[in-house]
Amino acid sequence: MLIEIATLFPEMCEAVLSASIIGRARAKGAITVNCHQIRDYTLDRHNRVDDSPFGGGMGMVMQAQPVYDCWKAVRAMSDLPMHTIYLSPKGKTLTQRRVRELAELPRLFLLCGHYEGIDQRVLDRITDEEISVGDYVVTGGELPALILTDAVARMCEDVLPSSEAYEDESHFSGLLEYPQYTRPEIWEGEAVPPVLLTGHHKNIAAWRQAQSEAITRERRPDLWSKWSKGE
Ligand code: SAM
Repeated sequence: MLIEIATLFPEMCEAVLSASIIGRARAKGAITVNCHQIRDYTLDRHNRVDDSPFGGGMGMVMQAQPVYDCWKAVRAMSDLPMHTIYLSPKGKTLTQRRVRELAELPRLFLLCGHYEGIDQRVLDRITDEEISVGDYVVTGGELPALILTDAVARMCEDVLPSSEAYEDESHFSGLLEYPQYTRPEIWEGEAVPPVLLTGHHKNIAAWRQAQSEAITRERRPDLWSKWSKGE
C-alpha cells in the first residue's frame, strides 16, 4: 500500500506517522506513506497558495493551480494507479467497510484542505471521492487524512501481528466490541467477570458475543438493526 498525503502541513503528518504501530510499519516497509508539500508547487512569487473567495465571504480558499500541479507531479512518481480522495466535511462518512475496500487499492492520494476549502474546479478535475470523518468541522484535512491512513494501514499485511487483531474489534463484524479487562483480578474492590478466569474458551467466546450484542443494541440501534438483518 502506497499512501500519498498532499498538505500544507507535512511536518504535522510526519510527526504522527513516525510514531507507534504506523511508524514501525513504515520503518519495516509494510506500508509506504509520503507527505507532499502543496506549497512547493505554487507559481506565486510570494509562495501564496490561497486567495479570497469569489462572491465574497469569510476566509480564504486554496487555489486550483498548486493543488493540480502537486497532484500531477505525485501521480508521475509511480506507475501504480492512484485513487484520489479529498477529505471534506461534505464527503461520505468513513466506515470500517469503506476502510477495508480502500485497503485493497494499491495507491491512495489524500488531499487535505485548509481555510475555507479548495477551489471546486480542481476538485472536480482530480477527485474520485470525498470522505468525511464525521458530522463536524475541523480546521484542516490533516487529522482526517491521518485517521484514514491509520485505519487503512492497520488492515494491510504485516502491520498488525495477525488479521485476528483487527477482525476481533468494534465495527469489523458490524458489532461493537465486548468489554476488556486485565490484571489485577480485583481492582478497588471490583472483580473481573468470573467467566474470563475459567480458561473455558467456548464459554468466554459466548459471553463476549452476548456482551457485544447487548452493547451494540443499547448504544447503536442503527448498527444493531443492520447487523440483525445481516446487512
Ligand atoms: N468551508 C468548509 C465547509 O463548510 O464544508 C469547511 C472547511 S474546513 C475549515 C478546512 C478543511 O478541513 C477542509 O477543506 C477539509 O479538508 C478539512 N475538514 C474539515 N472537517 C472535516 C471532516 N469532518 N472530514 C474530513 N475533512 C474535514
